[in-house]
Amino acid sequence: MKIKVVVFAIFFFLLISISSSFSQENQIDALLNNIVADLHRVVFSKPSDSLINKYCTMIFDKINKHELVFNIVKEETPLLSSTGFGFDENGLNPYIVINDKLILRYKTQPSIVLSMLIHEIAHAYFYYTDKYFVQNKDNELEHFFYEMDARRIEAMFILDYLIPLNYQLSLYEKYLYNSHKSGSLSGVAMLFDKINSDVLYKYYNFQLQFFQNKCSLETVFSSFISDSNQLLLMYEKPFENDWNRYTFLITLYTYYNNIPKIINQLVNSEKALSQSSQYSKHFDEMNKLLNTIQFTLANNSNLSFIDKFSNDLIIKMNQ
Ligand SMILES: [Zn+2]
Repeated sequence: MKIKVVVFAIFFFLLISISSSFSQENQIDALLNNIVADLHRVVFSKPSDSLINKYCTMIFDKINKHELVFNIVKEETPLLSSTGFGFDENGLNPYIVINDKLILRYKTQPSIVLSMLIHEIAHAYFYYTDKYFVQNKDNELEHFFYEMDARRIEAMFILDYLIPLNYQLSLYEKYLYNSHKSGSLSGVAMLFDKINSDVLYKYYNFQLQFFQNKCSLETVFSSFISDSNQLLLMYEKPFENDWNRYTFLITLYTYYNNIPKIINQLVNSEKALSQSSQYSKHFDEMNKLLNTIQFTLANNSNLSFIDKFSNDLIIKMNQ
């Protein structure tokens, strides 16, 4: 008799916990529906031919047709990593990932949730309209540029839609739209990607020109050598403040970590074989400079300074 009571109690408890987790999931689904409806209202209450309206017109249609779905996950992630965009291994079945904690946060901090969704909508738009988006999924450089484009859309949304509606902005949104207003998101890339985007764009342009026969490998090498030498000279001077030290070191790090990858891609391309230019001595010089840069970065705890400086700021922005 006692056993029966216990079994019944366990069964009853399980039933309650299953039904409560069901109702919790329903509640999260309903909240997400409300958020998406709010986002629709915010975007389309303003008649505009802006990029955001164009992106949202297409993506809301995909959502309504269930061609693009939401994937709600339950993980402990920092605020700014609570959404994402993905697709399966064949490049099909696209989805927007959203953390359930972020959905619950909407009540108290609606603006950041809307901003982050617009960012993912931008990625979804690239997915549907840019045939190289899926193809380049493992290309670090292209991935970075798509990320910068999505941030630009997010910043425009904050500026043109959220601010006029008096939304209370998070620290990250303020930083993003202020950078956008000042004409460059390079500070955002410095902080979140540890990349000097201006340097990256410069060498990316070299890459394009090289493949269009508009510049030689020698030009690229010479530019790398003179840029790096100038940078190393600047290191001799004291820094005015921590931000200046940080941005300088990130620039140096970009020359060390990202630019050689672009140059190596050019060197290893078929096009390089057809060029008669003598770049081997430049190659040696580049490697020597890379050693000096590596030594400089490792010196004076510069690398740990980079990590601490960016981590401290990012933690503040994740609130
Ligand atoms: Zn992104």
